[in-house]
Amino acid sequence: MTSANAVPFVVAIDGPAGAGKSTVARGLATRLGYTFLDTGALYRSVALIAQRRRIPWDDTVHLGELARVLDVVFAKDGDGTRVVADGSDVTQDIRQAEISEGASRVSAVPEVRAGLLAIQRRVAARANVVAEGRDIGTVVFPAAQAKFFLVANSETRARRRTLELAAAGKPAIFADVLAEMLARDARDSGRAVAPLRRAEDAVEIDSSLLTPEEVMAHMLAVVRARGG
Ligand code: C5P
Repeated sequence: MTSANAVPFVVAIDGPAGAGKSTVARGLATRLGYTFLDTGALYRSVALIAQRRRIPWDDTVHLGELARVLDVVFAKDGDGTRVVADGSDVTQDIRQAEISEGASRVSAVPEVRAGLLAIQRRVAARANVVAEGRDIGTVVFPAAQAKFFLVANSETRARRRTLELAAAGKPAIFADVLAEMLARDARDSGRAVAPLRRAEDAVEIDSSLLTPEEVMAHMLAVVRARGG
Protein backbone atom coordinates (compact mmCIF):
# COMPACT_ATOMS: atom_id res chain seq x y z
CA MET A 1 0.00 0.00 0.00
CA THR A 2 1.10 3.55 -0.63
CA SER A 3 0.76 6.35 1.89
CA ALA A 4 -2.26 8.61 1.45
CA ASN A 5 -0.84 11.21 -0.96
CA ALA A 6 2.03 9.31 -2.53
CA VAL A 7 1.90 8.56 -6.25
CA PRO A 8 2.17 4.78 -6.68
CA PHE A 9 5.49 3.60 -8.12
CA VAL A 10 5.09 1.71 -11.38
CA VAL A 11 7.68 -0.62 -12.86
CA ALA A 12 6.79 -1.39 -16.50
CA ILE A 13 8.27 -4.44 -18.21
CA ASP A 14 7.50 -5.01 -21.90
CA GLY A 15 8.90 -7.39 -24.46
CA PRO A 16 8.13 -10.34 -26.73
CA ALA A 17 6.92 -13.78 -25.61
CA GLY A 18 9.47 -15.91 -23.78
CA ALA A 19 11.88 -13.09 -22.93
CA GLY A 20 11.42 -13.88 -19.23
CA LYS A 21 9.08 -11.05 -18.29
CA SER A 22 6.82 -13.04 -15.97
CA THR A 23 9.65 -14.65 -14.03
CA VAL A 24 11.51 -11.42 -13.37
CA ALA A 25 8.38 -9.32 -12.86
CA ARG A 26 7.09 -11.74 -10.23
CA GLY A 27 10.48 -11.91 -8.50
CA LEU A 28 10.93 -8.16 -8.57
CA ALA A 29 7.43 -7.58 -7.17
CA THR A 30 8.17 -9.95 -4.28
CA ARG A 31 11.47 -8.25 -3.56
CA LEU A 32 10.00 -4.76 -3.67
CA GLY A 33 6.76 -5.68 -1.88
CA TYR A 34 4.79 -4.43 -4.91
CA THR A 35 1.72 -5.92 -6.59
CA PHE A 36 2.53 -8.09 -9.63
CA LEU A 37 0.27 -7.34 -12.60
CA ASP A 38 0.35 -9.98 -15.34
CA THR A 39 -1.51 -8.18 -18.12
CA GLY A 40 -1.16 -11.09 -20.55
CA ALA A 41 -3.42 -13.06 -18.18
CA LEU A 42 -6.16 -10.48 -18.82
CA TYR A 43 -5.99 -10.94 -22.61
CA ARG A 44 -5.78 -14.70 -22.14
CA SER A 45 -8.88 -14.63 -19.88
CA VAL A 46 -10.85 -12.72 -22.52
CA ALA A 47 -9.84 -15.28 -25.16
CA LEU A 48 -10.76 -18.23 -22.92
CA ILE A 49 -14.10 -16.88 -21.71
CA ALA A 50 -14.98 -15.90 -25.30
CA GLN A 51 -14.23 -19.45 -26.43
CA ARG A 52 -16.43 -20.87 -23.65
CA ARG A 53 -19.27 -18.54 -24.65
CA ARG A 54 -18.74 -19.30 -28.34
CA ILE A 55 -17.83 -15.70 -29.15
CA PRO A 56 -15.43 -15.79 -32.15
CA TRP A 57 -12.01 -14.18 -31.62
CA ASP A 58 -12.78 -11.62 -34.32
CA ASP A 59 -16.25 -10.60 -33.11
CA THR A 60 -15.24 -7.10 -32.08
CA VAL A 61 -18.63 -6.06 -30.69
CA HIS A 62 -19.11 -8.97 -28.30
CA LEU A 63 -15.42 -9.16 -27.37
CA GLY A 64 -15.45 -5.47 -26.47
CA GLU A 65 -18.50 -5.98 -24.30
CA LEU A 66 -16.88 -9.00 -22.63
CA ALA A 67 -13.65 -7.10 -21.85
CA ARG A 68 -15.61 -4.20 -20.36
CA VAL A 69 -17.52 -6.32 -17.86
CA LEU A 70 -15.05 -9.16 -17.31
CA ASP A 71 -14.38 -9.81 -13.66
CA VAL A 72 -10.76 -10.95 -13.28
CA VAL A 73 -9.24 -11.46 -9.85
CA PHE A 74 -5.60 -12.28 -9.13
CA ALA A 75 -5.71 -14.30 -5.92
CA LYS A 76 -2.51 -14.89 -3.95
CA ASP A 77 -1.75 -18.59 -3.52
CA GLY A 78 1.47 -19.27 -1.60
CA ASP A 79 4.30 -18.03 -3.84
CA GLY A 80 2.07 -17.98 -6.90
CA THR A 81 -1.09 -16.31 -8.09
CA ARG A 82 -4.36 -17.89 -9.18
CA VAL A 83 -6.34 -16.19 -11.93
CA VAL A 84 -10.10 -16.24 -11.41
CA ALA A 85 -12.22 -15.02 -14.33
CA ASP A 86 -15.96 -14.71 -14.00
CA GLY A 87 -15.85 -16.83 -10.88
CA SER A 88 -13.93 -19.79 -12.30
CA ASP A 89 -10.27 -20.62 -11.72
CA VAL A 90 -8.65 -20.31 -15.16
CA THR A 91 -5.00 -20.37 -14.03
CA GLN A 92 -4.18 -23.53 -15.99
CA ASP A 93 -6.55 -23.18 -18.91
CA ILE A 94 -5.31 -19.74 -20.00
CA ARG A 95 -1.82 -21.20 -20.56
CA GLN A 96 -2.90 -23.57 -23.36
CA ALA A 97 -1.14 -22.93 -26.69
CA GLU A 98 -4.50 -22.37 -28.35
CA ILE A 99 -5.32 -19.61 -25.86
CA SER A 100 -1.93 -17.95 -26.47
CA GLU A 101 -3.00 -17.55 -30.05
CA GLY A 102 -6.51 -16.46 -29.04
CA ALA A 103 -5.06 -13.83 -26.67
CA SER A 104 -2.92 -12.47 -29.46
CA ARG A 105 -5.97 -12.29 -31.73
CA VAL A 106 -8.35 -10.62 -29.26
CA SER A 107 -5.62 -8.21 -28.18
CA ALA A 108 -5.69 -6.61 -31.65
CA VAL A 109 -9.31 -5.54 -31.08
CA PRO A 110 -9.33 -1.87 -29.94
CA GLU A 111 -12.49 -2.34 -27.82
CA VAL A 112 -10.80 -5.18 -25.92
CA ARG A 113 -7.72 -3.07 -25.23
CA ALA A 114 -9.90 -0.17 -24.05
CA GLY A 115 -11.87 -2.42 -21.68
CA LEU A 116 -8.73 -3.94 -20.16
CA LEU A 117 -6.94 -0.59 -19.88
CA ALA A 118 -9.40 0.49 -17.20
CA ILE A 119 -8.80 -2.68 -15.16
CA GLN A 120 -5.02 -2.22 -15.34
CA ARG A 121 -5.13 1.42 -14.28
CA ARG A 122 -7.41 0.63 -11.35
CA VAL A 123 -4.80 -1.74 -9.93
CA ALA A 124 -2.06 0.92 -10.02
CA ALA A 125 -4.35 3.59 -8.60
CA ARG A 126 -4.09 2.04 -5.15
CA ALA A 127 -0.80 0.17 -5.03
CA ASN A 128 2.79 0.16 -6.26
CA VAL A 129 3.01 -2.32 -9.13
CA VAL A 130 5.34 -4.29 -11.33
CA ALA A 131 3.34 -4.70 -14.54
CA GLU A 132 4.41 -6.78 -17.50
CA GLY A 133 3.02 -6.97 -21.03
CA ARG A 134 3.47 -5.44 -24.46
CA ASP A 135 2.27 -1.82 -24.11
CA ILE A 136 2.81 -1.07 -20.43
CA GLY A 137 5.48 1.61 -20.84
CA THR A 138 3.98 3.06 -24.03
CA VAL A 139 0.20 3.10 -23.43
CA VAL A 140 -0.97 1.75 -20.08
CA PHE A 141 1.51 3.56 -17.80
CA PRO A 142 3.43 6.06 -19.94
CA ALA A 143 4.50 7.90 -16.76
CA ALA A 144 5.91 4.75 -15.11
CA GLN A 145 8.95 5.67 -13.02
CA ALA A 146 10.99 2.68 -14.26
CA LYS A 147 10.55 1.07 -17.69
CA PHE A 148 12.27 -1.97 -19.11
CA PHE A 149 12.20 -3.63 -22.51
CA LEU A 150 13.24 -7.24 -22.07
CA VAL A 151 14.37 -9.14 -25.16
CA ALA A 152 16.15 -12.41 -26.01
CA ASN A 153 16.94 -14.11 -29.28
CA SER A 154 14.11 -16.22 -30.68
CA GLU A 155 15.86 -19.60 -30.26
CA THR A 156 16.46 -18.90 -26.58
CA ARG A 157 12.86 -17.79 -26.08
CA ALA A 158 11.46 -20.86 -27.84
CA ARG A 159 13.81 -23.17 -25.91
CA ARG A 160 12.65 -21.69 -22.59
CA ARG A 161 8.99 -22.05 -23.57
CA THR A 162 9.55 -25.67 -24.70
CA LEU A 163 11.17 -26.51 -21.34
CA GLU A 164 8.34 -24.76 -19.47
CA LEU A 165 5.74 -26.79 -21.35
CA ALA A 166 7.61 -30.04 -20.70
CA ALA A 167 7.83 -29.19 -16.99
CA ALA A 168 4.07 -28.60 -16.98
CA GLY A 169 3.54 -32.09 -18.44
CA LYS A 170 2.74 -30.76 -21.94
CA PRO A 171 5.69 -31.74 -24.10
CA ALA A 172 5.91 -29.77 -27.34
CA ILE A 173 8.18 -29.81 -30.37
CA PHE A 174 10.76 -27.01 -30.37
CA ALA A 175 10.16 -26.14 -34.05
CA ASP A 176 6.41 -25.79 -33.47
CA VAL A 177 6.94 -23.60 -30.39
CA LEU A 178 9.37 -21.41 -32.34
CA ALA A 179 6.97 -21.03 -35.27
CA GLU A 180 4.03 -20.19 -33.00
CA MET A 181 6.14 -17.65 -31.11
CA LEU A 182 7.36 -15.90 -34.25
CA ALA A 183 3.80 -15.69 -35.60
CA ARG A 184 2.61 -14.21 -32.31
CA ASP A 185 5.49 -11.69 -32.20
CA ALA A 186 4.70 -10.58 -35.75
CA ARG A 187 1.03 -10.10 -34.88
CA ASP A 188 1.80 -8.29 -31.60
CA SER A 189 4.35 -5.96 -33.26
CA GLY A 190 2.37 -5.39 -36.44
CA ARG A 191 -1.07 -4.54 -35.09
CA ALA A 192 -2.45 -1.03 -35.44
CA VAL A 193 -3.38 -0.47 -31.79
CA ALA A 194 -0.74 -0.45 -29.06
CA PRO A 195 1.79 -2.63 -30.91
CA LEU A 196 4.73 -4.15 -29.07
CA ARG A 197 7.52 -1.58 -29.12
CA ARG A 198 10.12 -0.20 -26.78
CA ALA A 199 9.21 3.05 -25.02
CA GLU A 200 11.85 5.68 -25.76
CA ASP A 201 12.73 5.94 -22.08
CA ALA A 202 12.84 2.19 -21.42
CA VAL A 203 16.06 0.45 -20.42
CA GLU A 204 16.61 -2.45 -22.82
CA ILE A 205 17.95 -5.70 -21.37
CA ASP A 206 18.85 -8.75 -23.45
CA SER A 207 18.24 -11.81 -21.26
CA SER A 208 19.67 -14.36 -23.76
CA LEU A 209 22.83 -14.90 -21.75
CA LEU A 210 21.61 -13.79 -18.32
CA THR A 211 19.97 -15.69 -15.47
CA PRO A 212 16.71 -14.34 -14.05
CA GLU A 213 18.71 -13.35 -10.93
CA GLU A 214 21.07 -11.23 -13.03
CA VAL A 215 18.20 -9.54 -14.88
CA MET A 216 16.45 -8.80 -11.58
CA ALA A 217 19.62 -7.38 -10.01
CA HIS A 218 20.00 -4.99 -12.95
CA MET A 219 16.34 -3.93 -12.73
CA LEU A 220 16.41 -3.56 -8.97
CA ALA A 221 19.40 -1.21 -9.21
CA VAL A 222 17.52 0.99 -11.71
CA VAL A 223 14.33 0.98 -9.60
CA ARG A 224 16.26 1.89 -6.43
CA ALA A 225 18.12 4.68 -8.22
CA ARG A 226 14.75 6.14 -9.20
CA GLY A 227 13.34 6.07 -5.70
CA GLY A 228 11.30 2.82 -5.83
O1 C5P B 1 2.42 -12.25 -22.08
P1 C5P B 1 1.50 -13.31 -22.58
O2 C5P B 1 2.16 -14.32 -23.46
O3 C5P B 1 0.69 -13.95 -21.49
O4 C5P B 1 0.44 -12.51 -23.49
C1 C5P B 1 -0.47 -13.17 -24.31
C2 C5P B 1 -0.88 -12.25 -25.46
O5 C5P B 1 -1.64 -11.16 -24.95
C3 C5P B 1 0.29 -11.60 -26.21
O6 C5P B 1 0.79 -12.39 -27.27
C4 C5P B 1 -0.30 -10.31 -26.71
O7 C5P B 1 -0.96 -10.50 -27.94
C5 C5P B 1 -1.36 -9.98 -25.68
N1 C5P B 1 -0.93 -8.91 -24.78
C6 C5P B 1 -1.06 -7.61 -25.22
N2 C5P B 1 -0.74 -6.57 -24.39
C7 C5P B 1 -0.29 -6.80 -23.16
C8 C5P B 1 -0.12 -8.13 -22.69
C9 C5P B 1 -0.44 -9.17 -23.55
O8 C5P B 1 -1.45 -7.37 -26.35
N3 C5P B 1 -0.02 -5.77 -22.36
